Parts: sequence; C-alpha cells; structure tokens
Amino acid sequence: MPKINAKERNPTRYALAAAEQEALKKTYSSSIQIARLCPFCDHKIEVLCRGTHSGAYTKCPNCGESVFFPPIAFRLT
Ligand SMILES: [Zn+2]
Repeated sequence: MPKINAKERNPTRYALAAAEQEALKKTYSSSIQIARLCPFCDHKIEVLCRGTHSGAYTKCPNCGESVFFPPIAFRLT
C-alpha cells in the first residue's frame, strides 16, 4: 500500500513527473530486462534494462530486509 497519493496531493507535479517518466522510458528503456529479486522473500524489487548497473543497497518493500545487489552488466550481442 502506498503511503501517500501523489496524484491527489500535487496534480501539477504528478503530471510533470508522469510526462518525464514517459520521455525517459522512450529514450532509455529496452525490451531486454532483468528483475532483481529479494533473496529473502523473492519479491521483485526492481527491473533493470539492458546496460551496466552498479551495486546498490535497497530495502525490500515486502519483507523490510536490507539487500545489497552486486554490479551487473548485460547487453544484446
Ligand atoms: Zn524481501
């Protein structure tokens, strides 16, 4: 459950962010993706697009555990 409703709280900002998200997806997203799953509960924490990604600390929103993901690089060849 989300803690706030961004759309209701600030519709102007929501519209700007949504438009920016669409532009970013068009520019950078790819059909080749890898999901990072929580090692404790298998919750899908994030989805990576083709490219190079650094290591990252993330808190699993499902079980609350802090998870470290190692760097990863993948591309179409
Ligand atoms: Zn988890």
